[in-house]
This record gives sequence, structure tokens and C-alpha cells, in this order.
Amino acid sequence: MKAQECPVCGAGGLKKTLSTERFEYKGEEIFIPDYVAYECAECGEAIVDPETLKVSGKLLKEFHRQVDGLLTGKQIKQVRKKLGLTQEQMAEIVGGGLKSFARYESGQVCQSKGMDNLLRILDAYPEMLNVIRTKEKPSKNVATLTHGNT
Ligand SMILES: [Zn+2]
Repeated sequence: MKAQECPVCGAGGLKKTLSTERFEYKGEEIFIPDYVAYECAECGEAIVDPETLKVSGKLLKEFHRQVDGLLTGKQIKQVRKKLGLTQEQMAEIVGGGLKSFARYESGQVCQSKGMDNLLRILDAYPEMLNVIRTKEKPSKNVATLTHGNT
């Protein structure tokens, strides 16, 4: 690693530190290992490594979801797979756009309680998909879920 300048005081030679960082959310705690930061000996400023920030950000979001009683990204993906839908189709149903839905699955963004409820309902009653999708043109994908209409 090359020596970096402190963005706060301009001093050189930030020191890399590796630790297990403790975070708290609504009284619950989580420990994130391999937490990389760069500390300035001059002013005491600590800059979190961008990669660590990314990884820990995801872990924290998942942690918040668990504490809040929301589905995790993995569970959301499982619900979508169970329904046999693409991220695009799912985004159409729950709203918020394709990018948002991909972010719920990757754990970057927390879904709302309302969306979480919708996903849970669809998980338990996949046939409800028909109620939601009635406005669409005859679909290619829900064929297996429709009640036999001959
Ligand atoms: Zn500094």
C-alpha cells in the first residue's frame, strides 16, 4: 500500500489498521471482522477503506433487516425464484424500478415494511400474483400459477 495523505490535515503516512468493529442497532449488536481503516497520526482522523465500507455496508443493511424483522436479500431472491419471475417482472409488481429491486436482493437497500409484507404474502400465496397482474396483457410467465381455465 502506498502512503496516502490525510484528507483532513494533509499529513502523509496514514497507518492502516485492521480491527473487528462493533455496531449497534436498536439495542442489538453486530461485530464486523477485517474492518480496514487508515488512521492519521497527526489529527487522529480515521478513513474507512472503500472496500470495507462496501462490504460492511451490506452486512449492516442485512443486520438492520434482521432486527427490523424484514426479509434478507437472500430471502427476497428466493421468493422471486419461487414465483418464477425475473428481477424486471418483480420490480414491475412491487414498484420502485429495476435498480431498486436488484438492490434489495444484493442487500444494498432496505425494502419498506409494506413491500416486505407484499413479498411475504406472495411467498405464502403465489397464486395472489394473478390478482396483482390482472391489468397486464395475457402473460407468458404465470401460466403455471393460473387456476385451470380450459
Ligand atoms: Zn490528519
